[in-house]
Amino acid sequence: MESYYKPAVHECYFCGKSEFKNHSKAKYWSEIDLNFVECKNCGLIFANPMPTLDVIIKGNDALNFVMKSRGTLSQYRGGKEFSFYLNKFKKSGILLDVGCAEGFFLKGIEDHSEWKAEGVDVIEAAIEFANTKLNIKAYFGTLESLENCDGKYDFIRMNNIIEHIQDTVSFLEKTNKILKPGGQVLCSTPNGVQDGAMLKAANRQGIILNMLENHFFYYKPKTLKKIFEYCGFRIIKSYCDGIKHSIKDFGLLPGAKIKNSYEKFNLSDYKNLTNIEFNTMGEDLDKMKSDPSMKTSKIKFNLFISRLSKLRIPSVIPIGHQQTILAEKI
Ligand SMILES: [Zn+2]
Repeated sequence: MESYYKPAVHECYFCGKSEFKNHSKAKYWSEIDLNFVECKNCGLIFANPMPTLDVIIKGNDALNFVMKSRGTLSQYRGGKEFSFYLNKFKKSGILLDVGCAEGFFLKGIEDHSEWKAEGVDVIEAAIEFANTKLNIKAYFGTLESLENCDGKYDFIRMNNIIEHIQDTVSFLEKTNKILKPGGQVLCSTPNGVQDGAMLKAANRQGIILNMLENHFFYYKPKTLKKIFEYCGFRIIKSYCDGIKHSIKDFGLLPGAKIKNSYEKFNLSDYKNLTNIEFNTMGEDLDKMKSDPSMKTSKIKFNLFISRLSKLRIPSVIPIGHQQTILAEKI
């Protein structure tokens, strides 16, 4: 259907060149055909045509409905964990979390550090929850829609966001603009080499994978680094991890049968739902605060163990399910 898509582009979102090769095919929520192409010049892989923002927001709402467990305690604990990391950078400042959901991660930061933590998300009910129930400053909309905040932030976190957006360059240029000089951005996203390989491997086996998560861009680590540099950043660190995940799910074992685990999900079944989950979940913050897993000693021990067990590979070797870039505004 025509209205699902924005017009197809003939110039690459990053380098502007117009020679593409076919990459793979997938479906979004059983309803929307996704055709991925790869730019022959810079290697960026993207859906062409791109679905509209409206379609993506509907898919997001449906996904929030399907995923019953929101892991709010782990988000809150993650915020406390992250505050240790932030304190090494600066004792205080303003952080922006892009794709903040209902804000428990941000609450975890504010409760355990001197940092002010703000968020932005396209899920309206989540933003309302963050503002009213958690007293977190959160904005409804896309990052690009934020106003009057040039040079405001010391740190911007984007955890699995950049694969969901509509235009990488304008997204990262905006990120740059709203950071203070010397401000940092931490960006984590699937390694496009491997995530894309899964779609391709499935296609070779005659399977068109149904995707619920709206990944419309796949970034090879070297392409993503170039885009960051183009948008005014200096790369501090860039690495991949999650090898186990890659071997299991992403076609590193040739011939392994890929399962379409989301086959039965169709967007029409969820289209008219309003996302009431956020308002009714009744999470008890006091209970979270006193949960045994929130103890500082326990968190620090777990961080130490996970650092030992998580192999970080410099992203020049693009092995591993996830890639991370830490970059600084020049
Ligand atoms: Zn390109």
